[in-house]
Amino acid sequence: MFGGDVVPREDLARAGPDLRRLALQVDEDLYVVSGVPGPGDWFNHSCEPNAALRGQLTLVARRAIRRGEEVCYDYAMSDGSSYDEFTCGCGSALCRGRVTGDDWRLPELWARYGGQFSPYLQRRIDALVEGRARAREELGRVAHGRPAAADAEPMPLGVAP
Ligand SMILES: [Zn+2]
Repeated sequence: MFGGDVVPREDLARAGPDLRRLALQVDEDLYVVSGVPGPGDWFNHSCEPNAALRGQLTLVARRAIRRGEEVCYDYAMSDGSSYDEFTCGCGSALCRGRVTGDDWRLPELWARYGGQFSPYLQRRIDALVEGRARAREELGRVAHGRPAAADAEPMPLGVAP
């Protein structure tokens, strides 16, 4: 479980890169920074992690973890801003190559991690999915309500962004 001081984005921006690397985003514009830096903060990222978030602060195992194996999680589960972006060298076949604050937007991660995102990111994902469903519904209504005309443009039905 992570712990520390909750700091707003402006304060984190003023902190040095070493402290930023140890921060954990827990909500829109809020970060937890440990007041006692040490091994408790050293959870690396992996694109194929053996641990996941439960809530904002708790890491839980996604599978059995062998003795001596490094515990890591996917930072896409917690990070929704650009405070800690880097080139990834996790070595997994699933490696994204670059880890960014926008990775939570990747639908393949929603499928892989369902429910293992920080609650504030899950709210963002739910809003995105709901918005897409509404847009598809609207597109269907427009297509079906349109009078048939020889010169009508075909509607791009079934095209999901
Ligand atoms: Zn990777």
